[in-house]
Amino acid sequence: MNYKLTRIAPTPSGFLHLGNVFSFLLTKALAEKAGAKILLRIDDLDRERFRMEYLVDIFETLDFLEIPYHLGPKNPEDFLVNWTQLNRMDLYNKALDKLWERNLLFSCTCSRKKISQMDSSGYYLGHCLDRNIPKNRKEAAWRINTLQEELISIRDLKGNKTETILAENVAFFTVRKKDGMPSYQLSSLIDDLEFGVDMIVRGKDLYTSSLAQIFLAHSIGNQNFEKIGFHHHPLLKSEEGKKLSKSEGATSIRFWRENGKNLSEMFTMIGKLIGSPDPIESYEDFKKVVLSTI
Ligand SMILES: [Zn+2]
Repeated sequence: MNYKLTRIAPTPSGFLHLGNVFSFLLTKALAEKAGAKILLRIDDLDRERFRMEYLVDIFETLDFLEIPYHLGPKNPEDFLVNWTQLNRMDLYNKALDKLWERNLLFSCTCSRKKISQMDSSGYYLGHCLDRNIPKNRKEAAWRINTLQEELISIRDLKGNKTETILAENVAFFTVRKKDGMPSYQLSSLIDDLEFGVDMIVRGKDLYTSSLAQIFLAHSIGNQNFEKIGFHHHPLLKSEEGKKLSKSEGATSIRFWRENGKNLSEMFTMIGKLIGSPDPIESYEDFKKVVLSTI
């Protein structure tokens, strides 16, 4: 199937690692196959974890990887002036207003600790749903009532639909955080709609987020989001089989660059981590191997 626009959506909350790079390269390969352009969309609303050096790292990594993109900030300065999500607060707030108007939100003052104490699953079970905490209460998060849920339909890149329901880990998910900022689920959805993204490539760990975002799109009365083609890829694990995390360690691309490693060595490493039967030394090798499995 052909698509128009996909995106690479890193967060400047840590140094990028091989797992991020794998996701970017896969996005590039799938975009080329589908004839889609690439938008660089940096999610910078996590103000507590935002650091300038992480932002710079995103641009240096994309440059190192030779991943061109067609739309988005050209450098950190351009990002801070023209592309920061802070510029789109009006859009996010409009969506939040709509959700309040439709009576779909409630305020929640539960702390993370309290939530984990209330149920051993750690999932939020709607404790504040009927407490009618005022909307403007300080230190209150806004959550969405997911009890109104219907079947959610999600498409893969071939256009095949799966009908499913929201997972427990996103029950009553947050749409505005306690600090007054829109949540990841809300800002990510609104941005994708705003830019006209029709193809999303992301890790399997975000599958339940994709469902939450389709649900959220319906809740604000938008039917376009469910037409998006999704691909959720397996997460790259370390050689010891551990989850990669944002760090300064051996899997960070900054470490890789600063130690004079070249791109071909990085592809060899990725080839090993994805268990490729054939050696991978270049983007072309990578593309051939990954597209043969999708
Ligand atoms: Zn609560």
